[in-house]
Amino acid sequence: MTKSIDQARKLENVRYDIRGRILDKTEELEEQGHAILRLNVGNPAPFGFEAPDEIMMAMIRNLPTAQGYSDSRGLFSARTAVVQYYQTKGLTDLDVGDVYLGNGVSELITMTMQALCNPEDEILIPSPDYPLWTGSVALAGGVPVHYLADESQDWAPDFEDLEAKITPRTRAIVVINPNNPTGAVYPREALERFVDLARKHDLILLADEIYEKIVYDGAEMINLATLTGKDVLCLTYSGLSKAYRVCGFRAGWLAITGPRRRAASFIEGITLLSNMRMCANVPAQHAIQTALGGRQSIEDLLLPAGRLTAQRDLAHRMLNSIDGISCVQAAGALYMFPKLDTERFGIVDDEKFVLDLLESEKILVSHGRAFNWDVPDHFRLVTLPNVDDLATALERLGNFMSSYRQ
Ligand code: PLP
Repeated sequence: MTKSIDQARKLENVRYDIRGRILDKTEELEEQGHAILRLNVGNPAPFGFEAPDEIMMAMIRNLPTAQGYSDSRGLFSARTAVVQYYQTKGLTDLDVGDVYLGNGVSELITMTMQALCNPEDEILIPSPDYPLWTGSVALAGGVPVHYLADESQDWAPDFEDLEAKITPRTRAIVVINPNNPTGAVYPREALERFVDLARKHDLILLADEIYEKIVYDGAEMINLATLTGKDVLCLTYSGLSKAYRVCGFRAGWLAITGPRRRAASFIEGITLLSNMRMCANVPAQHAIQTALGGRQSIEDLLLPAGRLTAQRDLAHRMLNSIDGISCVQAAGALYMFPKLDTERFGIVDDEKFVLDLLESEKILVSHGRAFNWDVPDHFRLVTLPNVDDLATALERLGNFMSSYRQ
């Protein structure tokens, strides 16, 4: 018998369930001719969100000059634009050499975790999380340790839980703000507590702020790095995917602030990995300067009558009108993370619930445990469809739940 060809053992603990088994089933149903409403990925383009014209033009116009590799950290002009952007937010301690461009934030997350983690190093990650964080730490050989967010407090971080989980092996805390999947936007006091803990225990802060420009009702978005001072190392991750609606361009950045001299070895490691992948997609790098300067069209979508706000409000209202479902209003980002009354519906497996909903109603959402939430009592949906499609989907969800028992 021929031997099976196996994946590397290092993948044994790596999970990324938001794109797993359920997508196979979705594709099978689509091949059978069913139209599936995909409420599972925060990808604005398929829902009719066009990228701003000037971003498309910046990319198109620069295409002829974007044929070669760029500097491995990225185009000087794009990195300067990132520095100037953070200056306008009050962050002055940032040089163009502290900025790395990546093929989306995703690449920069995996790259920096590879540069940071030794076996047994613990990284504190929120639960629920955006699962790339847990997967990247596991892939890098580190140990993801989850601290809870508290649903009864609008999904604020549970600092008691967080502090109890800090050990001598803890290296860093991940802060996802605005949060995917909960929609929480952290107030200044919460951010200051993260900084205090990092200072007290000599930890690095990893601030995933990809949704920084998507906040509702005028909520204040504070970049964590503006609070960390010179003594706490902070890695800030953001990019064009969400606010500028160009997920497919793969354009993200990393900005490193704080005691860089003390972190010289870690930063050298990041530079090494950045060099090894040559550079990020160059045509998309040309869109960064254009995106960050000038008028921010995302703001129109967030006005009280703007499309994103209207969709969020409708989703919140309709979800809470379903018996057995409750949902915290999102203050930012593009998601809701509703709670299911597991006793009422007899739910013991949230993935099965998602599959049942998919088969019966042709609506695809993601199960809560895919976000490293331990209890099978939540799911995530994106609030990107227009209000008509969203209303139809949530009406169907309501009908489905009225007779659902697992
Ligand atoms: N971080 C969070 C919290 C996200 O939700 C996402 C994508 O959904 C990413 C990072 C990855 O974004 P990018 O498209 O820049 O790789």
